[in-house]
Amino acid sequence: MIYEDYSIFTVGPVKMSEDILELGGKQPPYFRNDKFSKILLRCEELLLKMSNAPQGSRVVFLTASGTAGMESVVMNFLTKNDNAIVINGGTFGQRFVNLCTSHDVPHLNFKVENTNLSDINNRVEQVEKYNALLVNGHETSIGTLYDLEAIGQFCKDNNLFNIVDAISMFVTDELDMQKHHIDAVITSSHKGLGLPPGLSMIILSPEAIERLHIVNIHYFNFKNYLKEGERGQTPYTPAVSIVLQLLQRLENIEKNGGVCSSIQNAKEVAEYFRAKIRELNLPFNFYGNYLPNAMTTLSPTNGKNAKDIAKVLEEENKVIVNPNGGEIGDKVFRVSHMGAVNKTYMDTLLNALTKI
Ligand SMILES: *Cc1c(COP(=O)(O)O)cnc(C)c1O
Repeated sequence: MIYEDYSIFTVGPVKMSEDILELGGKQPPYFRNDKFSKILLRCEELLLKMSNAPQGSRVVFLTASGTAGMESVVMNFLTKNDNAIVINGGTFGQRFVNLCTSHDVPHLNFKVENTNLSDINNRVEQVEKYNALLVNGHETSIGTLYDLEAIGQFCKDNNLFNIVDAISMFVTDELDMQKHHIDAVITSSHKGLGLPPGLSMIILSPEAIERLHIVNIHYFNFKNYLKEGERGQTPYTPAVSIVLQLLQRLENIEKNGGVCSSIQNAKEVAEYFRAKIRELNLPFNFYGNYLPNAMTTLSPTNGKNAKDIAKVLEEENKVIVNPNGGEIGDKVFRVSHMGAVNKTYMDTLLNALTKI
């Protein structure tokens, strides 16, 4: 299970850079001191900057995978007295639906297919019944990037608390808390940020912080995180090593021109890859019309099974793409452009695809 000499195109964990990998091999330091506090506070500052969070926003650092980030937001912000619109365009939308069901949050399971919801305005009936909206900015199961600007405007116009799971779009696709009127952003270490899994970060607007009122939860209680976070600490042991890697990663992004450059890079890599697929006449269609920069979903047009292609790529070419689960798994697989990938790296996959 050590894929050191493999080329990695999975959607999470993604290809990591050498300097970040090296940091992961170091002894995690003791953390209840000023040195670590400074690191966590700097991470918070950079995350707020990269999401263009409004003045007074804060970040909660959870030691948990992305789904815990999603669940914690549901637990901290929604109750049986709320009513949420859940955008459900695939596995991750369905996960929000399941979380609302688990926590007895009344909700509308708003199923969508092959749309970016730029016309959400005209689609929801009796919008006055609702007071919150949950969306995965990029529905990673199939590769749909929603129009966060239209959704944000819709939320603003209708007084909906806007929760965006940005786990698979952060630093590869545009996310702007102010422009998109977002109250809570969920992100995680192992997708666009290119770190190991285990850390989730929830970015909260001042309105979101104001709304926190639920107290009968323990590990996920945001109030405790915000209180400890004032001095750069967390209530429980954080994923210390990943926090150190996060700082390095965020500083690297800053040094290389900031989040806009990071998004531009991902866009160029994605466009290069898609242009090459066409240019080389490789037998694939792109699945759906609203692909993000973060990844490309490919569907074979020559009758071959997508899972078989993924298998041959791995076993005979040491190239790992991301198969899909369920029925759709026979028809599509996914190729990540997140993390430490560039055009040359994409060539490895293009060469392997040409060969097979
Ligand atoms: C990866 C991902 C998650 C988190 O999944 P975990 O397996 O819990 O880390 C959540 N939402 C989206 C959109 C994702 O892509």
